[in-house]
Amino acid sequence: MKDAFFETTRPWGFGFSGAGLDRASARREDAEFLRELRARADARFVLVVRDMPILGRDAREAFWPLSLVEAIGPARVEILLGLDSQGAPYFAALLPEAAVEQRADHSDGFLDRRVLVVPGREDLTPVDMRTVAMQGLVPPETVAILGQAKAIANWHTRHGFCANCGAPSRVTAAGWRRECDVCKTQHFPRTDPVVIMLAVDGERCLLGRQARFPKGMYSALAGFLEPGETVEEAVRREIHEESRIVCDEVRYVASQPWPFPASLMIGCLARALTRDIVVDGDELEDARWFERDEVVAIFEKRHPQGLLAPNRMAIAHHLLKFWLKG
Ligand SMILES: [Zn+2]
Repeated sequence: MKDAFFETTRPWGFGFSGAGLDRASARREDAEFLRELRARADARFVLVVRDMPILGRDAREAFWPLSLVEAIGPARVEILLGLDSQGAPYFAALLPEAAVEQRADHSDGFLDRRVLVVPGREDLTPVDMRTVAMQGLVPPETVAILGQAKAIANWHTRHGFCANCGAPSRVTAAGWRRECDVCKTQHFPRTDPVVIMLAVDGERCLLGRQARFPKGMYSALAGFLEPGETVEEAVRREIHEESRIVCDEVRYVASQPWPFPASLMIGCLARALTRDIVVDGDELEDARWFERDEVVAIFEKRHPQGLLAPNRMAIAHHLLKFWLKG
């Protein structure tokens, strides 16, 4: 049934999903298995430094052999990401900060921009994950694998010490757990759930904008799920806090990993019971109802006020299209 499994994990249009790897989670404690995988000629490594994957400068290669990890490492942590449908293993290698240097870039002749370089390797360049994803520098499956690598590497960077007693913790389970040898606590990688949703009133949906959004862009409302809350409760609370709209029925649509640093966006539609919006002014600078035709005009880039849809890498883009399809 292996082929059927991989069939179910194809990229399906949302950014950072569809890596198509078998994570082999049942074998993460098997040291011999891991040693063999790491030594395979077809083993591939995602190099991560300071939250950024290292890509090839020209061809945009994203996966590298162990020899390169050893040449510019050694890695602080290696994580088994999974095996592809041919059985080739993919690892993330978190490199020490000293593997890169910051240099001035005068390439535009005027501004002194700071860029990261790998000393002695002009063919390699660290690229921030938003740029990789938004500019489509690599295929969608690769974006998903790089996102997975970034999220787990970031967790190791920020969780070197036991949250229970403060002692340094140790990497185990092929990079998917840390253990404290002093108090014996086990620590697992975090995923922070975020609800993102459209309140729907018949043929209208509610969109808002934060001051930090690109000019003219409106998007779905969103917020972190809190301890003790269901997804449905978080959806209703966030909509009410940000717009004073009251909703009842909540429908789950789809989810998306969002590695900034480690969120899971949970996309929903919610049925609105009230109409009058009061913008909270804190999180949002504006929120309003959009008729179906207006959303179509935004997607077709012919809105009279030049309003813009969220980027197609973001689940908000697909939630809106899902709603448009009815
Ligand atoms: Zn401890």
